[in-house]
Amino acid sequence: MAGPLVDQFQRRITYLRLSVIDRCDLRCTYCMPERQTFLPKAEVLTLEEMHRLALGFIARGVTKLRLTGGEPLVRRDMIELVRTLGRKLGDGLDELTLTTNGTHLAQHAEDLYAAGVRRVNVSLDTLDRAKFAHITRRDSLPAVLEGIAAAKAAGLTVKLNTVALKGGNADEIPDLIAWAHGQGHEITLIEVMPLGEVEEDRIDHYLPLSVVRDALAARWTLQDEDHRSGGPARYVRVAETGGRLGFITPLTNNFCEGCNRVRVTATGQLFACLGGREQVDLRAALRSADPDAALSAGLDEAMRIKPERHHFEIDRRGAAPALSRHMSMTGG
Ligand code: SAM
Ligand code: SF4
Repeated sequence: MAGPLVDQFQRRITYLRLSVIDRCDLRCTYCMPERQTFLPKAEVLTLEEMHRLALGFIARGVTKLRLTGGEPLVRRDMIELVRTLGRKLGDGLDELTLTTNGTHLAQHAEDLYAAGVRRVNVSLDTLDRAKFAHITRRDSLPAVLEGIAAAKAAGLTVKLNTVALKGGNADEIPDLIAWAHGQGHEITLIEVMPLGEVEEDRIDHYLPLSVVRDALAARWTLQDEDHRSGGPARYVRVAETGGRLGFITPLTNNFCEGCNRVRVTATGQLFACLGGREQVDLRAALRSADPDAALSAGLDEAMRIKPERHHFEIDRRGAAPALSRHMSMTGG
């Protein structure tokens, strides 16, 4: 029987981030262009294929599954998928969670909780409606705030993700943190990453989190925390608010040695590293004569090719993105 997933650098892979759809109802300027071309439906894995794929990972020792996108909650059969996967909780799976923009969270929060989801990450870059409309190109802030409130009311722990944008939300970050902590939510700041062509030059928005952190430290007492997620986030406790604040600086690669994750796109392409090109076609495996065996072989291949570290670069103005695929493909 095939054993746990261990790569050639002895890292054990226990976390899968699965993109369930490439489509989205927002058009965040740093993520995708207004006229994004989406995939034909036949290219995207069906509900059954997603399920089989996830079971294949769980059978090989993956205990944490995050569903993402695109916007996962715009997939029609999303709740059915969550319900099906939720049945593996306590039977191989320790945690089932999702990352969402929150626009459809209000209508689904209770179903998610009932299916076994206990935590959701919601992306929120600003509390200012006009700024939100500018950053996401859609006027959806009220729906997102309603979604966050509904999630909390349904018993879900909400963690906010905020991309730090020079000229976008830089001035508002302390207020956003204070608001999040006041609502009882953890918040994590993310540096803009060079993934996929968008219409603006991302370096114009690149705001190093070291700068943000220094500004926050001038206002608050930031106490380092040991808490680690096995990912690129580092955490502090803000003494004055009592809340937890994370910093994700993916362009530094000092977290790669503890990497515990792989990503699969909505078309079943496994990416061994967010910042690399190494990939395995798991859809071909799923659509082969012996899908379970082919899938397991695909996972072995992924362990062989997972790179030691990523190779992002954002230092050259006007340079092409370090990788041509969008974050909406790999789900962040
Ligand atoms: N649509 C969902 C959402 O926005 O939460 C899930 C997918 S989205 C691609 C996942 C995360 O990636 C979001 O928190 C988003 O802000 C972040 N993201 C997208 N493009 C990014 C980029 N170029 N650099 C850094 N973060 C990015
Ligand atoms: Fe959609 Fe999320 Fe990308 Fe924004 S970050 S465009 S919400 S996929």
